[in-house]
Formats: sequence, structure tokens, C-alpha cells
Amino acid sequence: MDSVDYAVRMSRAVAAATAEGLDGILVSPGPDLTWLTGYRPPAETERLTLLVLTRAHPPALIVPALERGDAAAVLTLDLLDWRDGDDPYALAAGLLTPSGSYGVSDSTWALHLLGLMGARPGTGYRGLSDALPMLRAVKDSSELSRLEAAGAAADAAYTSILSVPFAGRREQDVALDLAGLLRQFGHSSVDFTIVASGPNGADPHHSAGPRTISPGDAVVLDFGGLMDGYGSDTTRTVVVDAPSDLLVKVHGIVREAQEAAFAAVRPGVSCQEIDRVAREVITAAGYGPQFIHRTGHGIGVTTHEPPYLVEGEERPLVPGMCFSIEPGIYLPGRFGVRIEDIVTVTETDGRRFNNTDRGLAVVH
Ligand code: ZN
Ligand code: ZN
Ligand code: ZN
Repeated sequence: MDSVDYAVRMSRAVAAATAEGLDGILVSPGPDLTWLTGYRPPAETERLTLLVLTRAHPPALIVPALERGDAAAVLTLDLLDWRDGDDPYALAAGLLTPSGSYGVSDSTWALHLLGLMGARPGTGYRGLSDALPMLRAVKDSSELSRLEAAGAAADAAYTSILSVPFAGRREQDVALDLAGLLRQFGHSSVDFTIVASGPNGADPHHSAGPRTISPGDAVVLDFGGLMDGYGSDTTRTVVVDAPSDLLVKVHGIVREAQEAAFAAVRPGVSCQEIDRVAREVITAAGYGPQFIHRTGHGIGVTTHEPPYLVEGEERPLVPGMCFSIEPGIYLPGRFGVRIEDIVTVTETDGRRFNNTDRGLAVVH
């Protein structure tokens, strides 16, 4: 069922590390480990689990003895197990070149990195997303179809949420509905369900609280999670009953910015150019200072990852990259508007994985 060639991913990672001047990469449990090997340890704990990918040795996983069986069931690479009382850092250090430099997965616990540094003084380390930001950025066809399916499930959740009652209920009640719908349409986990009504919408990451939603409120709905190991992330802004003229105007500007940024997607265009296109529309309308975040982020086995669509990111778009396009305008004390789709770069332009109507939907 799983046709992913993990050996190819691991050898590409070593090649990318070599090209970056690194002697290898060290990966602890988390999205990078799952992406590289397919292995999801039972839990991320104080016991060291570490994938060691170097030029000098074949791929090896340092694993606690009590989890060796689980690892052996999914992995064909070398397993080096250790028992409580052993020094796992010395075991890992044995695979490292003295004074070598290594990329380390971002979420590696400080405990483990400090242990490695102590066991192999003279080695150097860089964060993996800093050293190899594009390692997971270009998706293969199986990843693209999973991201597309996750997007379609999120769209189905959005379509359904439009018919639940909003007025008189708390944000957190609508958030629970949204989470239930994401699961109902196939998500295995729900990572965030932002329901930001009225003035709360002016905080882009306001999650969902006790505020009671009232007629006339704009409500930012931004939600996503993982389905079949890949992320969804979409935003629509709706209004309860009837919008103010200002809301209609601001929503129209954000929608135009989102359309313009999407229309600019094609191979070779820089990431920052997409941000600029969205920002120009909003700035020309007089709301530049109220667009307070980057235009987008990559998505894959995590919901925020490179490439980032932000001023200063000069790397070009490449077919197979997947990212959000999510401009917004935030008016403190009043409301916020954001519209977000996941988009992939094709050979010629862009294709959306979120296809629900981007208009200002009316809910009740
Ligand atoms: Zn965000
Ligand atoms: Zn989002
Ligand atoms: Zn997003």
C-alpha cells in the first residue's frame, strides 16, 4: 500500500547534506523521521531515538531496546539498540566523524543534542530547516495526492459548518463542530480550529474562546490537521446574518489579493514575489500596515514548513512545492479577514487544493 521509497529519500538527504558541506544529518522522532523512514516511534521520550544519516556509514537508527521490535517491524536499516544504563550518546558518537558537522532535526530535544555534544566534543551542528530548508519542499506524486485529499476533506468540513448555528453560540462550540467534521471527513488528527469572531478576528492566531457570536460578526474560520499523514489548512471568513459595508469592502480587498497571488504562481518565480503581489493589492487599498504576517507557508507532513512566502525568501518556486496563500487584513477592536488555500506549483502555473467559494458566506 505504501509505495514510498524511503531508501531514496534517505540517500537524497545525504546528498543534499553533502552539497551543503555537512557530514550528515541526525534526526530524532518527529515529522522528519517519519518522512525519511516511515517510522513513527510509540512516543517521543527522554530515551534517545536517533536516525544517523552520514556519508561514512549506511543509515542507522539508535533505538531503545524496548522499542526495537516496533522499529524492526517497519525498518530495514541498521538498528543499534541500547538498554537503560547504557550511554546512548556514546553509541551515536561512534557513528560521527571527529570535528564533523551535522544537521539536526529542528525538534530534537536540547537534552539529546547536549548529550551528543558532550560525547563528541569538536562536532558542529546546524538546525535542519536552516541547513536544508527545501529537503521536504518538493512533493512527489503520492504526497500530492494525499495533500489534495486532505484539502478536499477540509473543504467538505467548511461546506458543512456553514449550516450549523453561529449566532448565540460560543466560538469554542463552533470549533468543536469543526473538529468533529474534520474527523468525520477522514482526518486522523485536528491541529487547529480557529474560530475568531468580531474583534477576536483581528488576532490572526486567536484560537477559539468563550465569546458568544452575535449577528453582524465577521468570523474567521481557519482549521486543519492531518489526514493519511499529510496536512490540511484552509481559511474562510464568514459573516453572521448581514455584513457592514466596511466588512464587504475589506473582504473584497483580501479576496483580490489572494486571487492575484495565486495567479502569479508559476515555476521560477521567487517565493517573495508571491508575497509582494498579495501585499501590493492590500497596500494599494490603504491597508498595508494591517497585513501583519507573511503570505504563506509550506505544508506536507507538518502544517508549517518551508518554503515560506515572505520578503527575503529569494528561492524560486519549483513544480511539486505546496504552500498556503493566506493574505489577511486585521483591524484591532473591530474584525479580521483572511482567505487561505493550499496551492501546488505545476509545470505551468498553480493548482489549488482548496476549492470552496471564497466569497463572504452568510451564516446564521
Ligand atoms: Zn498561522
Ligand atoms: Zn490556516
Ligand atoms: Zn496557514
